[in-house]
Amino acid sequence: MGLLTVGQPLSWSSTKSKAEYIRQHGIIQFVNSYNKYKDNSNAPFLWGDEVEFFVCQMEETEKRARLPFSAPEVIAKLESISEEALDDSEGEVMAKEKLAIWHPEYANWMIEATPAAPYDGTLDGIVRVQDNMANRRKLLLSVLTDGQEVFTLPVFPRLGCESFTVEDVKPDPNGEVSKSMYIPDASIQPHPRFPTLTRNIRERRGEKVLISVPAFQDKNTASTMETQAKKILDNEGGNEILAQLGDNSIYMDAMAFGMGAGCLQVTFQSADVSQARLLYDQLAVLGPIMLAMTAASPIWKGILADIDARWNIISASVDDRPREERGPKESSENKVLPKSRYSTIDCYISESDMNREHFNDVAIPMDETSYEDLLSQGIDSRMARHVAHLFVRDPLVIFEDKLSVNNETQTDHMENLWSTNWNSVRFKPPPLTNPHGIQWRVEFRTMELGLTDFENAAFSSFMILLAQTIAAKKLDLYMPISKVDENMDRAHKRNAVENQKFYFRQCVDCHLRDEKLDSRPCVKEFTMDQIVNGDSTLGMKGLVGLVRDYVNERPGTKETLSRIELYLDFISLRASGKIPTTAEWLRQEVLSHEAYKFDSVVSEEICYDLLIKCKAIAEGQANDKLYGKLAPMVAE
Ligand code: ADP
Ligand code: MG
Ligand code: MG
Ligand code: MG
Ligand code: MG
Ligand code: MG
Repeated sequence: MGLLTVGQPLSWSSTKSKAEYIRQHGIIQFVNSYNKYKDNSNAPFLWGDEVEFFVCQMEETEKRARLPFSAPEVIAKLESISEEALDDSEGEVMAKEKLAIWHPEYANWMIEATPAAPYDGTLDGIVRVQDNMANRRKLLLSVLTDGQEVFTLPVFPRLGCESFTVEDVKPDPNGEVSKSMYIPDASIQPHPRFPTLTRNIRERRGEKVLISVPAFQDKNTASTMETQAKKILDNEGGNEILAQLGDNSIYMDAMAFGMGAGCLQVTFQSADVSQARLLYDQLAVLGPIMLAMTAASPIWKGILADIDARWNIISASVDDRPREERGPKESSENKVLPKSRYSTIDCYISESDMNREHFNDVAIPMDETSYEDLLSQGIDSRMARHVAHLFVRDPLVIFEDKLSVNNETQTDHMENLWSTNWNSVRFKPPPLTNPHGIQWRVEFRTMELGLTDFENAAFSSFMILLAQTIAAKKLDLYMPISKVDENMDRAHKRNAVENQKFYFRQCVDCHLRDEKLDSRPCVKEFTMDQIVNGDSTLGMKGLVGLVRDYVNERPGTKETLSRIELYLDFISLRASGKIPTTAEWLRQEVLSHEAYKFDSVVSEEICYDLLIKCKAIAEGQANDKLYGKLAPMVAE
């Protein structure tokens, strides 16, 4: 997403008054893009990843880790060096060509990095990702000042705790932007898009966001909850917050808690629009599966949580719905929007027979005007429903100087709504002004970051291989959306990989053998081990098995094939619980730390030691009990 615009964003009331205008022009821009590219075919398979790092100041003498507000400065340095040939005399930094694109992210200590150009879809192209990720990390480390480190961990464990920032700025509940009692506004990356999003979400909602996460219950956790309650009561409206929060929950009150959490995303280019639509649907089903497999977020605001993943926290952190929109779920009233604008998808979009209409079984509120406009312009009803569903939201950030655009060449108003519907998968139409010839793409958005480049490369590569297998073998992963949502809830649960079952299709290719698509009931509950590693007694090959079969049909160098085999081994061990998730590892590290007081608190000292271990693991020194099986793989 481009962030070149730096003008004056409008206030919430002005933004609201322009909402219809933005929708109307956004629809025209979508239709223009759709019609311009709908007949394009045979686009090459291209793909790229996005990794979000956080920079952290490690203070050895104090045994303390804190967050610096340094992202703009770090990005400026990276941009000044990454184009040049770099000195690799010490084997430290190896970029000989432009390696990465560095993007600002929500928090002022976050940096997003994508490859400079997308990778191709050959096996040899796919495995390039690991070196690219490793070199991005090296480049990033090379521009940091003394004592600063980078981590690929979704959240800084003590985000929002007393003095968690290097600079001594206090949160201001009466401030301009987030009004948080925990996070100072200076934590928000200064590009006007980010503070404006925050303020306008709060103003549209009519109150601060409320994020409630169940705390992990240990024998002294009650005292931790009491300390939290005291602090909440010191603030205006504290009683009401406590009532809404419920017992034994970690309270958070700012967008930074959610959008300050990093993730691992992958974007694929499909051959044509209908394949992109089919892939979008199939990947939506995999969203919860891959969230559980990559879970890495068990600590929030310095407290061990009873969940392992970030998704629902981000969802609550940008929930701009006022009370009447949140309404009771059962309500049939028009204005009720059952989900936050950061959520799993609500409807499938493919026109394939596999997309049985009864699978679209959750509410799909639409902007009716947009829907009618789309239909009247010849857009099919499934695509129209999808777009009108995105357009049921209001635009959140409008730059005054960007209001008037040329709908034949620009897609700003479409992008405005597209980029603030943060869904589990995103369907990306090609831009109207398109110097790089970008075609139809799908973005997969649920994965959490792992500590090592190995893990992040393994999961990215696995998703690419899986997407290719699904397309090549015409697999059918469809299930009712309500079941995908149920899976998403389960994916957050503590050690979901080992402890939960997930809905999945027993047979992912029965439609190729059977006459009728629904000839047998196929969606049942399975363990992650069954879903990923298969179950021969049930005729299930498992996702790894399906991918491996397809890989075996394809050319690749010996190195490539053994690297892919290593990735598949790792994914398989993760699914069977033999290699723990990052979340489970982090949790056990806290619980077994000598300074842990059985109160669920991750103190400064525990946090520091934890991050030191994370760094060692990221550097390949993974001689750790739980990470043990991973070590030889990372070292390969
Ligand atoms: P956003 O934040 O909107 O998701 P980014 O620019 O951060 O977008 O990331 C886009 C990702 O898509 C990058 O990994 C990039 O390499 C990749 N990419 C770029 N062009 C293509 C393409 N034509 N096909 C597939 N992926 C692409
Ligand atoms: Mg982005
Ligand atoms: Mg991005
Ligand atoms: Mg990002
Ligand atoms: Mg993205
Ligand atoms: Mg939705």
